Amino acid sequence: MNVQEAIDKLNELELQEFAYGHAFGILSWDDETVAPKGSQIPRGKTMGVLSELSYKLSTGDEARALLDFLKEHYDELTPEDRRRTDLREKNMRELRAIPMEEFVAYSQLTDEASSVWREAKRKSDYKLFEPYLGKIIDYKKRFAALVRPDMDPYDYCLDQYEEGLTREKCEAFFKTLREHIVPLLEKVMAAKPIDTSFLSTPFPVPAQRELSAKLMELMRLPKDNCIIGEVEHPFTTGFSKYDVRITTHYFEDNFLSSMYSVVHEGGHALYDLHSDDRFCFTSLEGGVSMGVHESQSRFYENIIGRSREFVELVYPEIVRLCPTLASQSPEALWRAANVAQPSLIRTEADELTYPLHIMVRYEMEKAMIGGDVKPADLPGMWNALYKEYLGLDVPDDKNGILQDSHWSGGGIGYFPSYALGSAYGAQLLHKMREDFDVRKAVRENDLIQVNNWLEEKIWKYGSLYKPAELMERAFGGPFDPTYYTDYLERKFTEVYGL
Ligand code: ZN
Repeated sequence: MNVQEAIDKLNELELQEFAYGHAFGILSWDDETVAPKGSQIPRGKTMGVLSELSYKLSTGDEARALLDFLKEHYDELTPEDRRRTDLREKNMRELRAIPMEEFVAYSQLTDEASSVWREAKRKSDYKLFEPYLGKIIDYKKRFAALVRPDMDPYDYCLDQYEEGLTREKCEAFFKTLREHIVPLLEKVMAAKPIDTSFLSTPFPVPAQRELSAKLMELMRLPKDNCIIGEVEHPFTTGFSKYDVRITTHYFEDNFLSSMYSVVHEGGHALYDLHSDDRFCFTSLEGGVSMGVHESQSRFYENIIGRSREFVELVYPEIVRLCPTLASQSPEALWRAANVAQPSLIRTEADELTYPLHIMVRYEMEKAMIGGDVKPADLPGMWNALYKEYLGLDVPDDKNGILQDSHWSGGGIGYFPSYALGSAYGAQLLHKMREDFDVRKAVRENDLIQVNNWLEEKIWKYGSLYKPAELMERAFGGPFDPTYYTDYLERKFTEVYGL
């Protein structure tokens, strides 16, 4: 085999992996959106077969031999093919280090834990979930020790979602956020409250669907490659640059909820829709990490979507679809869309208090994986942190430790990427402003300028660079969270007239 033959093989292998992922993803999307309730059994069978086939394909002798060959000829590879080799190596290290039986047992555990978590949340009873969370934590620690004995176990967890992120980087990052956000929030809480009563004006769902279509048009989401579905908890699935699905949830008495879901998920979709053509059907297609993905979705949702200019741009359509709202000015709507108020639920949190919710989870995860807290003590720790960071008393587990699904699925180390994404977005805005007048572009319905910039700096690279490297290239220097804290200070000073 020569290098060219190996690359041909690699292309073939990744195309097959793409095909399994595509089929699997379509089944999941169908399940979440339109599939009839009774379709679970055959879907479960099909997904089981597909998972096994795809596992064998990616870990089989041929894939291993190919990886070994690529590593031996690393110096002869292009930067693209080196990156593909590194990504395969990272995956393979995991699959090689964790015994198959443990991997299967862990998958079964998280499967079961997810339904137990749902039940526990419904009953607001952490005790039901506690043994499962305990076992998940034990597995995570064990996997960390097996896969990366050289690494801090929580660093290993972080690295799974945001390659290269460490506890050390998180500490510095969250410290800066805390120092700025806590006093800023105090000022906001002392300011004159903003009227939000009109946000519950009934906005019929069919009219909200029209609003979604308008938002997708403003964001230049191509209709032929991106559609919207309706689900309980909105998400985005990108199959390829030709097919991305976003979702939303409509509440008749809270139209902003769906409006900002569409803008957020639309930001994810734009990223997935703009990978360079040459990455199609390879492991380099699509977004590189959770943090970078969230930087794009939150950039659209908060920085663009909650700007005065964007609200003014959408206002005529809002009033056309829900004439009762015409009694409110665009200014009043913009302020109401930016209200900051400590609350118990992360997914409903505003832009300013959101990072505090993430910090609670970060402290919890550090303690779980660091091993100095028992599963039984976690709710007490959660409640104490909410009191400390947000000044709130947590009334029950449902509104406390049981609110998020992540840990039940084994997603420990995932949360920090949300806050990191927000901070990346603010530094991107700073750079974007050096190149053109962003406010003017939004005001004049010229979001194509914003998209072109993001495509050039971020989207087209797919997964070619490691997350931090991609961002540093876009920033033209190191990541600096003070762009984010400055942005928040400027914005909330304006919204509240501080
Ligand atoms: Zn998101």
